[in-house]
Amino acid sequence: MTASERSTRVAILGSGAAGLTAALYAARAELAPLVISGVPAGGQLIITTEVENYPGFPEGIQGPELIDRMRRQAARFGTEFVDDNVTEVDFGRRPFVLRTGSSGTVLADAVIVATGANARWLDLPSEERLQGHGVSACATCDGFFFKGRELAVVGGGDTAMEEALFLTNFATHVTVIHRRDHLRASSIMQERARAHPKISFLLDSEVVEVLGTERVEGVRVRHRPSGEVRTVPVGGLFVAIGHVPSTEVLRGRLDLDKDGYVKVRDHTHTSVEGVFAAGDVQDRHYRQAVTAAGSGCMAAIDAERWLAERPAAVPVARATH
Ligand code: NDP
Repeated sequence: MTASERSTRVAILGSGAAGLTAALYAARAELAPLVISGVPAGGQLIITTEVENYPGFPEGIQGPELIDRMRRQAARFGTEFVDDNVTEVDFGRRPFVLRTGSSGTVLADAVIVATGANARWLDLPSEERLQGHGVSACATCDGFFFKGRELAVVGGGDTAMEEALFLTNFATHVTVIHRRDHLRASSIMQERARAHPKISFLLDSEVVEVLGTERVEGVRVRHRPSGEVRTVPVGGLFVAIGHVPSTEVLRGRLDLDKDGYVKVRDHTHTSVEGVFAAGDVQDRHYRQAVTAAGSGCMAAIDAERWLAERPAAVPVARATH
């Protein structure tokens, strides 16, 4: 082991709700986990404002504060953190090898992958500026804050239909804006959305700007065939154009599905024995902080049981550096 190498029974990739919960459980199982946090650390909750659906916080809590608390809770029981990105993994040998950007190499007997997934955005400066102030990528998380407002949803897939339908519980009207003249969503979801009296569609149209200074006040939409630009006054914009799992470094190292999500069996086991996956990196369906945390807990328990049957391949005392 060199000075820039450190070893651990279990390394956790990612420091969102899944990674930090896995760390908490692994730490309390005396596994002294090492979290390679990813940069920026903290996952999707870091870009979330008010969280009202995480149990235990009846008044709600800000996303960054929730993450900070999870991190401190994991640290309290002996989790160590490396605030860096993993740039390369070798799961073909034991112990597993994880190389980081500038923090050296980590050798691990077991690995929990909790690198998450990022919402895809339109990449408009105005969209970025108003994120958390009326621009959201999660209706389940934020719909409640938009009671009595007119809203817009961008996207033509199943998620967009689902988000639009869910938002009708709060909004007075939902406009679905889609860039093509026909939707990608499954026919059943399309039919449901089309049949809903509160939902209308702007097809062949793209959002070119989100309007508002403090909060979203509208969107400027360009009709692609004619080039005509119009303003749609809305109090919120939900971007539902897909998610991208953070699995670039895992490509060719773990079995991924066609969209890049980590394939799991028996809840958290990946295609490599001793490598587990938790949270949004393996879940395209629920994507909630609480479900990510739950699956982090499951991965830690699975890793602990797996490790219990195996002697340490690396010395468990960490190298100082
Ligand atoms: P999809 O990839 O299916 O759809 C993304 C949508 O966003 C497409 O309509 C696409 O347009 C549009 N889009 C992509 N990039 C841009 C952009 N830059 N600007 C404007 N529009 C853009 O993603 P989903 O999240 O909807 O679904 C992912 C998977 O999950 C699918 O397999 C889906 O079936 C599944 N799912 C199933 C659900 C259910 O069954 N209840 C619920 C939610 C998801 P275009 O069509 O032009 O490519």
